[in-house]
Amino acid sequence: MGSVKDYFSSLGAGLASLVKGMQITGKEFITPKITEKYPEHRDTVKVPERFRAILELKYDEEGNHKCIACGICERNCPNGTISITSKMVDTWDGKKKRKLDKYVYDLGSCTFCQLCVTTCPQDALEFSNDFEQAVFTREKLVKQLNYLPEKEEPAPTPEQIEKAKAEKEAKIAAAKAAAAAKKAAVAKAAEGAAQPASDETKNDDATKLTEEK
Ligand code: SF4
Ligand code: SF4
Repeated sequence: MGSVKDYFSSLGAGLASLVKGMQITGKEFITPKITEKYPEHRDTVKVPERFRAILELKYDEEGNHKCIACGICERNCPNGTISITSKMVDTWDGKKKRKLDKYVYDLGSCTFCQLCVTTCPQDALEFSNDFEQAVFTREKLVKQLNYLPEKEEPAPTPEQIEKAKAEKEAKIAAAKAAAAAKKAAVAKAAEGAAQPASDETKNDDATKLTEEK
């Protein structure tokens, strides 16, 4: 059986603990709440900017994205979440250009590590903080990120046409100069090879004449 002293000591410790607990409870009463009622406050809910909900391609006001279908994000993704298909298109100057065909992203396997965003050389990706991504089937978590129709290749400006023309002419001139130089070198080499042969012929003729005499 404990002493009276122990009894009052335990009582004091219990009261101190109670006061401490009430202090914490009182503090929480006056601290601004960070939880939100959902879906009641769906329209006013505040989601931090840096919250990563879903990957998106960045589009500008004119509906253009900056993805060049290089595939770096696809290769860097540790989960195989991204699948890119590209296509080759003709440009106005007769060249071929790789363009994005389909950018497919599986939200269900994304771990939001952001490696794809940080390694993209074009700064073409970002995470949206739109948290309402719940769906009823896994298939619906697979999304095509380039959802807008691809735009036609832009028409060239007069400056571009002039520049391309000048470059083409310069290439032709350089090729002609190289061909002429090569031709001259071959002719010179042939001439050099023929010279000793004719000298040898002359020597043979002189020897014959000496012997006849
Ligand atoms: S999003 Fe970026 S890294 Fe990925 S294919 Fe497009 S340009 Fe390349
Ligand atoms: S955030 Fe990570 S897991 Fe998700 S697509 Fe990008 S690289 Fe893959």
